[in-house]
Amino acid sequence: MATVLFLSSSRRVAAQALARSTSTMAEKSVAIALQDVISRMKRASEGAGRTQPVRLVAVSKTKPVEALQEAYDAGQRVFGENYVQEMLDKAPALPSDIQWHFIGHLQSNKVKAIVENVPNLAMVETVDSTKLADKLNRAVDLAGRTEPLAVMVQVNTSGEESKFGLEPGECVALAKHIVQSCPKLRLAGLMTIGMPDYSSRPENFQCLADCRAKVAAELGLVPEHLELSMGMSGDFEQAIEMGSTNIRVGSTIFGAREYPARPKSPPAAGQA
Ligand SMILES: *Cc1c(COP(=O)(O)O)cnc(C)c1O
Repeated sequence: MATVLFLSSSRRVAAQALARSTSTMAEKSVAIALQDVISRMKRASEGAGRTQPVRLVAVSKTKPVEALQEAYDAGQRVFGENYVQEMLDKAPALPSDIQWHFIGHLQSNKVKAIVENVPNLAMVETVDSTKLADKLNRAVDLAGRTEPLAVMVQVNTSGEESKFGLEPGECVALAKHIVQSCPKLRLAGLMTIGMPDYSSRPENFQCLADCRAKVAAELGLVPEHLELSMGMSGDFEQAIEMGSTNIRVGSTIFGAREYPARPKSPPAAGQA
């Protein structure tokens, strides 16, 4: 008994030492995790016989600029943020050739700030109303950006109550509005989160692909010229198999987040 106790306590010491070293590793392994995601992406693309490249958006919400810099140093150039204030804080602290994707709920009163202060804002993936499209269009115009801003129409593909994303039946009208009435925006494609708990099912991916087919048919576009932004840490390989061109991966690259992914309330007053 005494021997067993001795053994187990020395094992515990060893286990603690290992835990310490792996937690140090976990903090330093953004580059390794990123490489792993890229390999898995490539494998999924090849397996699905995809010819179009798939874009990886490294979702860095809640993570410090040091973690983003590490991913940048490992070659990553596209980053996604959910909160306007976080993007406003991080963008100036990081290299200007980063392409920022905004992937959170964008309030109309924050549009001007983000467009004016983040010149390397490359895409807003979460346009879900004509009002927001109009605000963005005007802000891009006023900011004097030479290129139109790429946007995606966010679709609620779960059929469940959600504050964000419009119903599949509404996506054609919004896409049409962007193409016909927002010359400072470029309709890049469609985006979905999936289920309200941020997981996805094949039905969500299929629904988004169906939306794209409808939008393309109605607007006389080639479907493949519109992107599909779908797939996160837990399901990006399946999303790629089902046609995703833009996956948004956070925790698998940067580690678990301190607070939940679901954008519940805006940052504390004064910060926003
Ligand atoms: C947080 C978030 C992601 C990334 O989620 P992970 O599961 O951490 O990969 C992707 N898309 C959106 C819209 C998010 O809010």
